[in-house]
Amino acid sequence: DTTNKTTVHQREQEENEEEVNFQELRKLARQSYLSQREEKKVLLLQYELQDFEKDIDEVGWDNLTKKEQKEYEMKKEIFELFQKRKQIEDDSKGSYFIPEDYMNEEGKIDRKRKEDVLYAKYDENKFKDGSSWEESQIKRAKNAIGGFTKLKPHDQIEKRKTEETQYDYVFDNSQAIEFQLDSNKDEKQLNREQEVLEEKVKEEEKRIKTIEQTRKSLPVYKKRTELMQLIKENQVMIIVGETGSGKTTQIPQYLYEDGYTQNGRYKIGCTQPRRVAATSVATRVADEVGTKVGDTVGYTIRFDDKTSEKTEIKYMTDGMLLREFLNDFELSAYSVMMIDEAHERTLSTDVLLGLLKVIIKTRPDFKLLICSATMNAVKFSEFFEDAPIYNIPGRTYEVELYYTPQPEANYVHAAITSVFQIHLSQGPGDILVFLTGQEEIENMAENLAETSNKLGNKIKELLICPIYANLPSELQQRIFEPTPKNARKVVLATNIAETSLTIDGIVYVIDSGFVKENKFNPSTGMESLEIQPCSKASANQRAGRAGRVGPGKCFRLFTKTAFETEMPDNPTPEILRVNLNGVVLLLFSLGITDIWNFDYMDAPSSDNLAKSLSLLYSLGAFNENGEFTKIGRQMSEFPVDPMLSKCLLTSGEMNCCSEVLSIISMLQETNSLFYRSKEKQQQIQASREKFISKTGGDHLTYLNIWNEFVDSGYSRQWCHDNFVQFKTLNRVKNIRTQLERICAKQSLLLENPQSSNISRDKTILHVMKSIVSGYFWNVARLNRGGDSYKSLKKNQQVWIHPSSAMFKLKPPVKFLIYNELVLTSKEFMRNCMPISERWLSEYASHYYTDDE
Ligand code: ADP
Ligand code: MG
Repeated sequence: DTTNKTTVHQREQEENEEEVNFQELRKLARQSYLSQREEKKVLLLQYELQDFEKDIDEVGWDNLTKKEQKEYEMKKEIFELFQKRKQIEDDSKGSYFIPEDYMNEEGKIDRKRKEDVLYAKYDENKFKDGSSWEESQIKRAKNAIGGFTKLKPHDQIEKRKTEETQYDYVFDNSQAIEFQLDSNKDEKQLNREQEVLEEKVKEEEKRIKTIEQTRKSLPVYKKRTELMQLIKENQVMIIVGETGSGKTTQIPQYLYEDGYTQNGRYKIGCTQPRRVAATSVATRVADEVGTKVGDTVGYTIRFDDKTSEKTEIKYMTDGMLLREFLNDFELSAYSVMMIDEAHERTLSTDVLLGLLKVIIKTRPDFKLLICSATMNAVKFSEFFEDAPIYNIPGRTYEVELYYTPQPEANYVHAAITSVFQIHLSQGPGDILVFLTGQEEIENMAENLAETSNKLGNKIKELLICPIYANLPSELQQRIFEPTPKNARKVVLATNIAETSLTIDGIVYVIDSGFVKENKFNPSTGMESLEIQPCSKASANQRAGRAGRVGPGKCFRLFTKTAFETEMPDNPTPEILRVNLNGVVLLLFSLGITDIWNFDYMDAPSSDNLAKSLSLLYSLGAFNENGEFTKIGRQMSEFPVDPMLSKCLLTSGEMNCCSEVLSIISMLQETNSLFYRSKEKQQQIQASREKFISKTGGDHLTYLNIWNEFVDSGYSRQWCHDNFVQFKTLNRVKNIRTQLERICAKQSLLLENPQSSNISRDKTILHVMKSIVSGYFWNVARLNRGGDSYKSLKKNQQVWIHPSSAMFKLKPPVKFLIYNELVLTSKEFMRNCMPISERWLSEYASHYYTDDE
C-alpha cells in the first residue's frame, strides 16, 4: 500500500529531522568555544528545557510519552554538556583552549586522539535502533555538514591525516562554527531560528529591565523607608492604597529584605481571597526575586501546595491560613502576616481577623498588616483598637463614565457590541470587561473570536484573554503579557480584576454591573449562586481600572438611575450571606465553642449560626449535649464541605471509600471536565453520553469517567479521544491523592472483612447511600407535572440543570439529591443523584422527623 508507505516514510523523515538537530547540538556542545550565535542556541535549548520542565511539573514525568521522555533526557544531557564546556572555557579565561580529550601529556593537540575522540563521539547515537536508520542518518549527516562527514570512513582518515592544514582549518574554532552553520542545507530555517532566538534574548533582557523599572516605579517604592519604620514601631497596621500601587507584590519583599524572616527561621505570610490571585502574585514575586515558585517564594491554595523548606515568602488563600490554625494555633511559623484584600470581606478573612486579634495579644513579636483597597479602612482600624492607617499615595487619572440610556436586556451581547465599538472608534489602549462567571466569559470569548475572524484584515487584531478562577495557571499569566503593536487586548474577567489583579495598559472598562454571589437563606437552608447587581463601591473600583496609565473611559452597561437606586453602596460581607457550616466546624475544632460570642467584625445572624449547628448536629459532629464528637473532629480534617466529608466517613464504614473518594474529587472539578467547542459539540455530547449512569446520576457518571481514566493508565490519549480535559483529570488525580492521605490516616480505606467480596451492584448501592448520608439536606421530590421538583424541606420549586446526566431522563426519578443549587434563569440543581425514599429514613430519620 503506497500511501501508507509514504506516510511511514514521512514520519521517519520527520523523526530523523529532529535527530539531526540533536546531533548538531551535541556536536556544538562539545566545541571548546561558542560563538555568540551559538550561545544563543544554548539559550534556546535552555528555554525549551524550561518549557519541558513546566510540562513535567504539570502532568508528571510518568505521563509523558516514551518519546517525550527520551527527548527531554537528550536535551538535558546536551545542555549539561554545553554548560560543562562553558565552565572549562571560562576557567581558561579566554586563552586558547585545547579540549582535554585531545591533549597529550605536553598539553598539545594529539591528532590521533583528537580523531578518535571526535569520531567516536560522532558515531555515538542514542537513537540507533536499526541499520536502515543508520544509513539514512549517515546520508543526512553528509548533507548537513558537507565535507566533514566524508572523512568518516576509516580508510579516508589515513589519507586526511596528511592534509594537516585543511584538518586544522576545520577545527579552527571560529571557522568551524561558520562551517557548520553555513553548510547547513536549510539556511532559511536557520535564519528564522536565529531571529526567534535573538528576539527571545531581547525579550528576556527587556523583561529583566522592566521588572526592575516596574518595581521602582510603583507608588509604594517611594514610601518604603517610611512604611518599614512604621511597621517596626506598630504591631498592627492598616495599609490602604489604590489597586496597583504595589502592596501585594512589594511589601512582603521589603519585609524579607529587611530580615523579618531571620534567615529562614520565620516566614512572611500573605493571604488572598482568591486562588488565582495567590498563584499569580506568587509567580510574579518569584520572578522579581529571581527564583522558582516553591523556592524562596511559594504559594499554598487548596489542593495545590507550592512551598518548600526554603520558602520564606508565602502567599496563600485566606481559607488555607484558616486551616493552618488547626495545626498551629499561634501561627508560630510566621513573623509577619499580611491579610490582603481585606476589603473583600470574605468569610475566611473575617474569621481570620477574629483569630488574629487573639494572637497579637499572646505574641508581641508578631506583626499584622491589614491591606485594603481604598474602601472601609476605618472599620478595620476600629476593630484593631485604632491601629494606625497608612495611606500609600497613588496617582490615578480621570475616568469618563458612560451609561446606557435604557437598561440592556442582555449584557453579554451589549458587551460584545461595545468591544467592537471601542475597537473601531477609539484610540489605542486595552479593554477590560467585567462579567460574572466562567461560562459567560467563555461564551463571550468565543463570540468575539468568531466575529473578529469574520472581519479578518479589516480590523486590527484583537487578543482575547479570559481570566477566571478555574482558568489553568499557564493561561492566567497571558493577561499580563504586553500587547504587541497593532493589536488590542481584551481581558474578560470576573470581579477578580476589580482589585486583586492589576493589568497594565487598560484604558477602557466595560462593566456589566453584575456579580455572581453565593447566597444562603438560613430560613430555608437553601444556598445558591446568584447573579445580581454589584455594589456602587465595586462599580467605582471597576471604573478606576481604566485610569491607571492615563485618562480612561468606563462604559457602564446599565443606566444612571439603576446605579443610583438599584445598587447597594457596599458589598455585603460574606459572613452575612453564606452558610457557615465549614466555619462553625472549624471554630469548634479550634476549641472555640462559644460561636455566638466570637469576635466578629460583623456578627452573622443567630439564625444562620443556629442553622449550621443544626446541620452539623444532624451529620453527627456534635452530640445531644452540644459536645464535639470524634466524627466532628474527623470531618474537620478534610478541606472540603462538611457534607462531603461526612460522605467519606460513611463510605469508610461501607467499604466503598475508594469509590466515594473518586466521586468527591471529581465533584471539585466538574466545571471544566469536557472540552468546549462549537464545531465538535455533537461528538462531545456523544462522548458524554457514553459515560452516563442512568441509575446513579451525575455522581456515578463521574465515577465512570474517573475509572476509565484510571484503566487507561491516566492516558492523555484516552482523554483526547473522549473529549475530556486531561489537565482537569490530572487535577482530580492530585486532589484525590491528597484526600486519600487523610482517609488513610483515619483508617477509612481499610477493608471491612465483613463486607469484603460484595458484588459490584452492592458496592454501587453503598456508594449511593454514602452520598445520601451527607446530603440528605438537599433532597427534592418530583412535582406532579413531572418536569420540576420541590425541595423536600422547604417546598421550593427547583429544576434539574441541563448539564446533568439526569436532565430529561425518562421516566423522571421520583426522589433525588443535589450537591448545589444555581440560580440563573431558574433555580437549577447541579450534580444530581436519584435516591430511594427509604434511604432517607435510614440515614436521616432524625432530620426528617425533626420539625415536619
Ligand atoms: P496592589 O497589591 O497594590 O494592587 P500589586 O503589588 O498587585 O499592587 O501590583 C503591582 C504591579 O505589579 C502591577 O502594576 C503590575 O504591573 C505588576 N504585576 C502584578 N502581578 C503581576 C503578574 N502576575 N505579572 C506581571 N506583572 C504583575
Ligand atoms: Mg493587591
